[in-house]
Amino acid sequence: MIYRIRSDGGADRRDIPATKVQWRRLLAYLRPYKLRLLLATIGLIFASALSLVFPAVIQRVIDSVFQDADSNLLDAITLLLMAVFVFRSLASFLQNYNLNFVGERIVVDMRCELYAHLQTLSVRYYADRRVGELISRISSDVTVVRTVLTGNVSTFLQQSLTLIGSIAIMFYLNWRLTMFIIVLMPLIVGVAFVLGGAIRRTSTRVQDEIADATVVAEEVFQNIREVKSFVREAYEIGRYNRAIGVAFRAAVKLLTVRSVFGPIIGFFAFAGLALILWFGGREVLDGRLSPGELISFLVYGMTVAASFAGVISVYSQFQEALGATKRVFEILDTLPDVQDAPDAAPLAAVEGAISLRDVCFAYDNDQEVLRHIDLDIAAGEIIALVGPSGAGKTTLFNLIPRFYDPDSGAIRVDGRDIRAVTQSSLRRHIGIVPQETLLFGGTIRENILYGRLDADESQMIAAARSANAHDFILELPKGYNSIVGERGIKLSGGQRQRVAIARALLKDPSILLLDEATSSLDNESELLVQEALARLMQHRTTLIIAHRLSTVRIAHRIIVLDEGRVVEIGRHEELMAQRGLYAKLYEMQFRADDLELSSYH
Ligand code: ADP
Repeated sequence: MIYRIRSDGGADRRDIPATKVQWRRLLAYLRPYKLRLLLATIGLIFASALSLVFPAVIQRVIDSVFQDADSNLLDAITLLLMAVFVFRSLASFLQNYNLNFVGERIVVDMRCELYAHLQTLSVRYYADRRVGELISRISSDVTVVRTVLTGNVSTFLQQSLTLIGSIAIMFYLNWRLTMFIIVLMPLIVGVAFVLGGAIRRTSTRVQDEIADATVVAEEVFQNIREVKSFVREAYEIGRYNRAIGVAFRAAVKLLTVRSVFGPIIGFFAFAGLALILWFGGREVLDGRLSPGELISFLVYGMTVAASFAGVISVYSQFQEALGATKRVFEILDTLPDVQDAPDAAPLAAVEGAISLRDVCFAYDNDQEVLRHIDLDIAAGEIIALVGPSGAGKTTLFNLIPRFYDPDSGAIRVDGRDIRAVTQSSLRRHIGIVPQETLLFGGTIRENILYGRLDADESQMIAAARSANAHDFILELPKGYNSIVGERGIKLSGGQRQRVAIARALLKDPSILLLDEATSSLDNESELLVQEALARLMQHRTTLIIAHRLSTVRIAHRIIVLDEGRVVEIGRHEELMAQRGLYAKLYEMQFRADDLELSSYH
């Protein structure tokens, strides 16, 4: 895992504790919604202030209404209370609606930012990670961040206001009694800090372990054929159960810490009330407090306890959420390891000549996969790459569109170092037809247009015709509008390949990277695909990872790779005459192909 911290603003960031930086960054998400936040705050202040009225009214009822037996005053007070509560509800609405609206906007903003950033990360990033992990960052972690920023912030503010308001009124009523509660506070705060830290650590672990279990399930869903063919259902159930079991044990730890936390705070709160009653009772007996004031003091005391518990529980939730925000920011701080040079220029139209000079490459530091590769490929040349599995053929392909950068040496297209041009312009000139084509869930039209979004209907149909795909597409129930992919119609391997070829034809690249399918198709499909590929290769520099004898035969040159080195170069006959690795591979790989071909030629 390679995480690098963004260099901008990094200098001052290093000295600041991580949590502080996250708050600053988090709060930045609120900035665009100042007006709504202002409305929410006004609502919040009114709602909190108006809920402080009730205990004061109780005091009036006890001290005036009951003592003077004034039922008219009681009626008036009740009406006033009703009006107060109507306003309180309106203020609450103003607060809730605006705050939650902002919350939803933040989820959208953060997801879009995260998604856009993930698109900039290079192939290596995805090769090192599991999809399920990234999905959980973009879905559940972002939701947690939202909860912190809106739900928790509002509870925190509301409870704090009520807390401060209640304490102020209590001071006004009787400062001696109030001091009792103030003395209790540092105790409770201390406990909250200690337990808050424990909760944060446990919560991050629970989230990670739940993500691990999700990844196990996802792997199985993706490889369901392997699971079934090896009859490993029971084994996989066991694996999932174990992963869930680990998550459960971590969750129990979390809930234990949480369960201990609540009652401890609760004890302090109620003990505080008992003390108010004890001390306040004495104040009444000594004539420094009226009975009504004592009752209202008790109600304020309860409000203070509840608000305090609220503030503290929000604090512990903040701590939990810091884990989620950390994971989100970790992704946002990851720099793509393949980047455009600061002065990168776009690569204009190219002929398609490719040269590799002393190219070395390793995925991990210790194991060199390509060693000192020197190659010159002329524009329009067809090159077949041949070599045992693991020789580095796919790796060589990965370097040309800069999915990875070589560790040393240089790759040039038309004489320009590909690190000096923008990645997007480079890739615009390169077409890739993979071994197994995955279509996007959508119509066939959308899938072909993926090659060039602004192509018109006639260009798209021309591409499909050249790819030998037009006829089979017309036979589908909805023609070009047929939905393919997971929830659509299923195409055969050969049909999918032809759609991929149509897509590549529409893109019209100067350089073509073709990874030939290893599994053979039925004869008719095979011929149609070969024909389509032959059209696709015309006037393009083509590199093919070849598995078919017919392909090797049409290549202008065959390049034989072994253990990351170029070991032989030449035409089929020349290499056969050398009696080297190619001749050996031919015996093993192509001979059967040859016999098969000659039997129906
Ligand atoms: P070929 O296409 O000739 O079969 P590859 O280029 O796929 O060979 O692989 C060359 C070597 O690089 C192999 O040893 C393989 O294990 C290793 N390799 C391939 N992809 C990765 C990767 N993403 N991370 C680490 N090693 C890899």
